[in-house]
Amino acid sequence: MKLAVVGAGWAGLTAAVALKSTGAAVTVFEAAPLAGGRARRVDDLHMGAIDNGQHLLLGAYTETLALLKHLHPERPVDELLHRSPLHLESADGDFCLTAADVMAPLHTLWGLLTARGLSWQDRWQAIRMVVLLKRKRWQAPAMLSVAQLLEQHHQSARLCRRLWIPLCLASLNTSTDQACAQLFLNVLRDSLDAPRARSDMLIPRVDLTALWPQAAADTVTMRYRHIVREVCPNAATVSIDGEVFDGCVLATPPYACARILKPSESSGTSDTLLAQLGAFEYRSIATLTLQLDAPWNPPQPILLLDEDPTRGHLGQWVFTRTQADDQLTVVISDASDYLKHERVSFVDNIASQIREQVQRHPNSRRSSQPPMPAIRSHRLIVEKRATFAAVPGLQRPANQSPWPRLSLAGDWTDTGYPAVLEGAVRSGKRAASTLIEALQRGTG
Ligand SMILES: Cc1cc2nc3c(=O)[nH]c(=O)nc-3n(C[C@H](O)[C@H](O)[C@H](O)COP(=O)(O)OP(=O)(O)OC[C@H]3O[C@@H](n4cnc5c(N)ncnc54)[C@H](O)[C@@H]3O)c2cc1C
Repeated sequence: MKLAVVGAGWAGLTAAVALKSTGAAVTVFEAAPLAGGRARRVDDLHMGAIDNGQHLLLGAYTETLALLKHLHPERPVDELLHRSPLHLESADGDFCLTAADVMAPLHTLWGLLTARGLSWQDRWQAIRMVVLLKRKRWQAPAMLSVAQLLEQHHQSARLCRRLWIPLCLASLNTSTDQACAQLFLNVLRDSLDAPRARSDMLIPRVDLTALWPQAAADTVTMRYRHIVREVCPNAATVSIDGEVFDGCVLATPPYACARILKPSESSGTSDTLLAQLGAFEYRSIATLTLQLDAPWNPPQPILLLDEDPTRGHLGQWVFTRTQADDQLTVVISDASDYLKHERVSFVDNIASQIREQVQRHPNSRRSSQPPMPAIRSHRLIVEKRATFAAVPGLQRPANQSPWPRLSLAGDWTDTGYPAVLEGAVRSGKRAASTLIEALQRGTG
């Protein structure tokens, strides 16, 4: 069997690994010069290997973790990912929530009950919401937004600012007034209403390409720097830029699928698919990697930042890079409004945002910790189409396409998750099994 995958992101490479395991000859076409797609290494002249964007994984990413183990049988996962229990803390220490080391869902409820920086009323309302949602099996009306959900459950402005808005932006990259409540609840369900380890936070210890995409790419034939122009499926084969394959997983983002998919004849189902592909809107994420003059130890490896756009304090999260204790990354989700800012003041403002807020943290005052060192260099990477906008009512295509020899993969397929790594991996696995079943039916 001669099979192809178009796109070497996390979805395409997962599909490639699954197809390869059937004994097929697998060729992966990738426009970029390296593997990983939207979660990949970037080689910076001053800082060495950094990433295009800071990625946080959750213990709930079970398929991703299984793939990691499969591709690195000789390496303990702890060498590749730094795992810690759910811990949300603001840079100034004013807010702090830690999941307790007890059985789920008590770990979350206890975390909310003991959270610092919330009033008793806030804690009670948050716990009440979690209990009610669990009772409703984490189901929300299809067109409900996250903001409407929070309003229905009487979540105060402080609770939203400290907890729900950061969580919604981090997981859906869409503002609460536009974000789909059901997708948000799916994320909460799988991380908070599940065994305690599912809510753990995992940060890569190696660059994102080295985490597993490179190992996956090493098992198949890679055609890097090949921008596919035409994918033409018919009943028996799929032709890719004129080369004929027995089957194909198309794993590019929706806008690229719409551009390169050239069915020989249109039908009702192919028109529906093309309309669905065209309906996606996108949201950006800006990641600022900072090289400090000296190592620095903030109070926690992940801290929430308070935003104040009037002062250019635009950072939402700051991470200490696990690979280098003199590097930080600052994340700005749903960032499009901020892209207009002038670059020099942009970096200075964010640096003073971190300095000011961390200086107010009780640990900084208690241990007279030195302030953040000067910034030697920086790299700002803005991914304009980082994720699709996770809005209510979005019709997401299935992995099965109208053509038996072609299946679709990507975080945008109907995974039940927003645009996240685990969704990409699950979709890749499902797309591969859909194609394998179709091929078996065809040859059986
Ligand atoms: C800055 C940033 C931060 C993020 N943070 C997180 C996070 O913390 N946690 C989390 O879970 N998720 C996060 N995400 C989302 C996560 O990165 C994506 O869900 C995931 O990488 C999507 O993988 P994919 O394979 O579906 O798509 P992609 O990675 O987009 O893969 C598609 C591939 O197709 C290739 N391609 C496109 N057109 C062609 C063509 N014509 N010919 C050949 N190749 C083509 C592209 O180059 C790309 O490699 C983040 C995303 C970004 C951008």
